[in-house]
Amino acid sequence: MPAPLMLIETSPNLPDAADAVVIGGGIIGTFTAYYLAKRGMKVALLEKGRIGAEQSSRNWGWCRQQNRDARELPLATKSLDLWEQFAAETGEQTGFRRCGLLYLSDSEEELAGWARWRDFARTAGVTTHMLSSAEATERGRVTGRTWRGGVFSPTDGTANPTIAAPAVARALMKLRGTVHQSCAARGIETAGGKVAGVITEKGTIRTGTAILAGGAWASSFCRQLGIRFPQASVRQSICAVGTRAGVLPDVLHTAAVTLTRRGDGNHTLAISGRARVDPTLQFLLFAKPFLPMFTRRWRQLALGGIEGIRSGHEGASRWRLDRPTPMERMRILDPAVDEATVRLIHERAVKLIPALKDSAISAAWSGYVDSTPDGVPGIGENASLPGFVLAAGFSGHGFGIGPGAGHLIADIVTGDAPIVDPRPYHPDRFAHSSWGKVADF
Ligand SMILES: Cc1cc2nc3c(=O)[nH]c(=O)nc-3n(C[C@H](O)[C@H](O)[C@H](O)COP(=O)(O)OP(=O)(O)OC[C@H]3O[C@@H](n4cnc5c(N)ncnc54)[C@H](O)[C@@H]3O)c2cc1C
Repeated sequence: MPAPLMLIETSPNLPDAADAVVIGGGIIGTFTAYYLAKRGMKVALLEKGRIGAEQSSRNWGWCRQQNRDARELPLATKSLDLWEQFAAETGEQTGFRRCGLLYLSDSEEELAGWARWRDFARTAGVTTHMLSSAEATERGRVTGRTWRGGVFSPTDGTANPTIAAPAVARALMKLRGTVHQSCAARGIETAGGKVAGVITEKGTIRTGTAILAGGAWASSFCRQLGIRFPQASVRQSICAVGTRAGVLPDVLHTAAVTLTRRGDGNHTLAISGRARVDPTLQFLLFAKPFLPMFTRRWRQLALGGIEGIRSGHEGASRWRLDRPTPMERMRILDPAVDEATVRLIHERAVKLIPALKDSAISAAWSGYVDSTPDGVPGIGENASLPGFVLAAGFSGHGFGIGPGAGHLIADIVTGDAPIVDPRPYHPDRFAHSSWGKVADF
């Protein structure tokens, strides 16, 4: 079942030429295209299915600095401001609110980890409050029980995944950018070793700049170009319950279950990090670089099935540019929901919050979360193919940093001063045998 999604119009004609072509209409591609168009560039945004229909509508909507890896924290902080600015400058609504994020725990170890992060965050100018047992119990009163402690990050917030990417695409169109849905990019045309065009299922667009923001499809697309991008995805299943106004907090995270107000009268329920691994050829290809990541996270992972092979996003084969590609056979990645997980999520939520006793699941869906080996996105121009910029592998936390990432990618393309230091993100790091620490969260 797809997650709820606001549908938008498609531009009537595919242009013959553009200053930049963005491939992929998730939160990263839409914000990238928007910031490029804001600088006066002629931008075409290609989406093989519907804008926002994959990960970017299937997530919880968290826009957080709390517990961010040091490499992503500056981007997260900038993004929170950009979410606000976007609404103010376009009049388009993404549902972004700085509602604060509340984490509760009974584990001394977990609380000590949050306190360490608080100390680190202070050095970056980010404020977050550790909560005493009394404070955590008061803030978590909806659970009707006592907590050992918690943390509250007042400047963080959430946006509404149902409307965010479509809203940004609409803002792009107001800047004369074009949006092409049901239009897959099949490949890149080159001239003199540089990008010269993007070949789509509906024709070729001449351009010197192609940005690949293809989410879980990015690695297989790169493979067609002889570019190695280690990427793996896991399948997460979540659900929603209809909620009476005022009963539930906006956001509450515990190790057992997490709930988030969705902005449509529902709350999303999920178990953080819990996912299924659906083995694919690509998964086997990159098994080695992903060992540190999977060793660290194996407790939350279970073996899935043939869903990954069926979906086709991690195929190892080369495709022809004059025939439908796997992306046209799977317009929207909508993998099977893990029913056992959804039942467990709901059971845990009812146990945590007595007011949910009579609640019914209103919707359930799953999504492939695409990741890099170190859990930090791959953003940067490819040295072997000038004009080709990769922006993928957002590793389960790309929605919140969508505006900052889009701004940074636009900076890279136009050569403007980057909004944050781009070096930690460059995909070149995956060419070395040591790729650094796996992100904590
Ligand atoms: C259950 C779940 C919970 C999550 N919770 C959070 C959260 O609370 N906060 C957070 O920050 N992040 C969260 N995430 C992660 C977040 O959703 C992703 O990191 C983010 O949406 C990635 O955005 P994207 O634009 O890179 O990818 P996507 O949204 O997947 O978009 C990529 C798009 O590219 C298109 N595409 C691919 N190839 C082509 C092609 N060749 N031609 C044309 N189009 C193409 C696809 O159809 C797709 O629409 C969660 C993810 C999941 C699944």
